[in-house]
Amino acid sequence: MYIANINNTATILLNPIEYLKGVGPQRADLLKKELGIFTFKDLLELFPYRHIDKTQITKIANITEGTEYVQVKGKLTQFDIVGEKRGRRLVAYLQDDTGELELVWFQGINWIEKTLSVGSQYLVFGRAGFFMNQPQITHPEMEIMTAETAGAKSFLEPIYPSTEKLKARSLSGRQIGKLTFNLFTVLNERELEENLPQPILDKYKFISRYKAFKQIHFPVNADEYYAAVSRLKFEEIFISQLRLGMLRFERHRFSRGLVFNKVGELFNTFYKNYLPFQLTGAQKRVLKEIRKDAGSGRQMNRLLQGDVGSGKTMVALLSMLIAADNGFQSCLMAPTEILAQQHYNSITKLLKDMAITVRLHTGSSSAKTRREVLQMCENGEMHILIGTHAVIENTVQFKNLGLAIVDEQHRFGVEQRSKLWKKNEVHPHILVMTATPIPRTLALTAYGDLDYSIMDEMPPGRHPITTVHRYEYKRPQVMDFIKDEIKKGRQAYIIYPLIEESAKMDFENLMKGYEEVKAFFPEPAYWISMVHGRMKAAQKEANMQRFVKGETQIMVSTTVIEVGVDVPNASVMVIESAEKFGLPQMHQLRGRVGRGSEKSFCVLLTSTKISAEARQRLKIMCETNDGFKIAEKDLEMRGPGDIEGTKQSGVLDFKLANIVNDKALLEEAKDIAEKIIENDPGLSSPENYRLKNFLQLQKGKTMWSKIS
Ligand code: ADP
Ligand code: MG
Repeated sequence: MYIANINNTATILLNPIEYLKGVGPQRADLLKKELGIFTFKDLLELFPYRHIDKTQITKIANITEGTEYVQVKGKLTQFDIVGEKRGRRLVAYLQDDTGELELVWFQGINWIEKTLSVGSQYLVFGRAGFFMNQPQITHPEMEIMTAETAGAKSFLEPIYPSTEKLKARSLSGRQIGKLTFNLFTVLNERELEENLPQPILDKYKFISRYKAFKQIHFPVNADEYYAAVSRLKFEEIFISQLRLGMLRFERHRFSRGLVFNKVGELFNTFYKNYLPFQLTGAQKRVLKEIRKDAGSGRQMNRLLQGDVGSGKTMVALLSMLIAADNGFQSCLMAPTEILAQQHYNSITKLLKDMAITVRLHTGSSSAKTRREVLQMCENGEMHILIGTHAVIENTVQFKNLGLAIVDEQHRFGVEQRSKLWKKNEVHPHILVMTATPIPRTLALTAYGDLDYSIMDEMPPGRHPITTVHRYEYKRPQVMDFIKDEIKKGRQAYIIYPLIEESAKMDFENLMKGYEEVKAFFPEPAYWISMVHGRMKAAQKEANMQRFVKGETQIMVSTTVIEVGVDVPNASVMVIESAEKFGLPQMHQLRGRVGRGSEKSFCVLLTSTKISAEARQRLKIMCETNDGFKIAEKDLEMRGPGDIEGTKQSGVLDFKLANIVNDKALLEEAKDIAEKIIENDPGLSSPENYRLKNFLQLQKGKTMWSKIS
């Protein structure tokens, strides 16, 4: 019984769209190209963005300047093609008992001309405007009134997204509704079988799945529509959380992991003798979570979220020592050469008195070093490898890689990460550390298959950074302020936007800026370092090092400095043309100061002409130092589609839900999904059988054989 039904479902909903009444090959082509509608199911899930009340007919005399979309009923009295070339247009007149409305077409004239019938009654819909005191609609949607259509329209009519090309094929936002209508003549309750367990339906008083789909397209009133949306939105979020939860569960249960079962000599020696500070509570907690994962016998796949400066590097180092204690190699992958180098420097310094071998591997390593390093990787002489993308090249073969740490995650794609996993027969444990926090809702959806840890505590003794917004004409005062700080022995960063390292204009601005800074801070009283993406790695590094060592007081740089660089003595960060930066990037840049015990400052310089949105971003920066808050604001302002690294992830492709507005629902759905998985991971109870069927169906044909 079940099998027949399921196959049946699949055949209808997965039917190619050209099989639907009213479609045909040409329209099908357009629907595919313009809206990505390939099957019945795709059309079913193309939801209307609004409905018009078909019972509302506006009298022509009542159309005013303030009228937006209107529906008018009347007789077509005449039409003509007037004008030439670009001014060529078709003008028609529609009359009701109160006045005359002008209808105008600039496109598709020949086609429209053939379809219009003078003397017939029409139902006309469109956005009203006025031209020379005469009400008119440009490119209206027209429907001829027959005895049949006149009576049958007492519901809310759905309007769908459409395009010019579809409109030219008589598939306007309104006409697509006819296809959906046809679709419902062949769909019945069984094809849209219930997929939510009864307790959930009861708890939320949800309408059935079939009803919901029907009512979201063709509601009789607003209540019906909202009932449909709330059910389908829940379903969308809940099913995605259930799927992610099951992925996590399966991974936990089936993935074989290397076992780090002891904390040994290396860790303990370091902890007792060389740890330069007390760990924060958050660092300790995260280490515990990592140890628990790595000792469990399953592979760790953990996302570590911590604000800029919360001390993720130390967590990475201590984890790598645990790996070494258990006889495994580890690698730490950073997104830029500067950062890899810096990690290497600070880690070798911390480990200098310990019997542990650390090496650096980047794109610019010399052939000789490279050969050496690769050999040490392979024969196991080296314990810790630090590097850039270069570490995932095929030439890098480890003897026994046990732990791979990816710093500043959002710059690496999932694919690159998975390359790391493949470096050992049993996958190494993976720890992914984000550069800036991402909002929880995003973490739940985009990275929902990872486990995750939060470091929500800063090392002690940090002063919050004071951030101010200044207009460019105040630059002299800002420079004087920097002088004062330098007098106190501090250092300063001045950052220029060079988003595209190759952009010529940005580069010229940077050079101009550098000259300007030099004029304010002449040698030999002051020394300036400059770093940008066009420099050779060695030159970059040399300039960086002079600043790190305090030989230069000012670092003029592009955003290459953005991630990770650590100079605790720096107390001022000036961001030039700050209006050009996004929130996370500004926050990340600001995190370069406030790392020592001195009070630190961030100055956001802009011209006076900036957009309202830029102003809003600057305001947020001045108001808070909290990366998690900034991430939330960023998501609110930009929407999920724009958040770096999530575009292609697919999981954020919600049709109805929105991770900004539906936060609470998302949390709730996650809890429910987790409870279900906890109690019935196989979804084999009668109650969850619907879910199981549904998920298996969604996996596609290959899974059908498993349904029994
Ligand atoms: P991020 O999380 O941004 O990568 P880092 O690991 O670079 O931060 O740490 C920022 C600074 O804080 C570094 O100078 C580091 O040495 C210091 N630090 C880290 N943990 C502690 C701690 N528990 N107590 C004091 N300072 C710490
Ligand atoms: Mg870091």
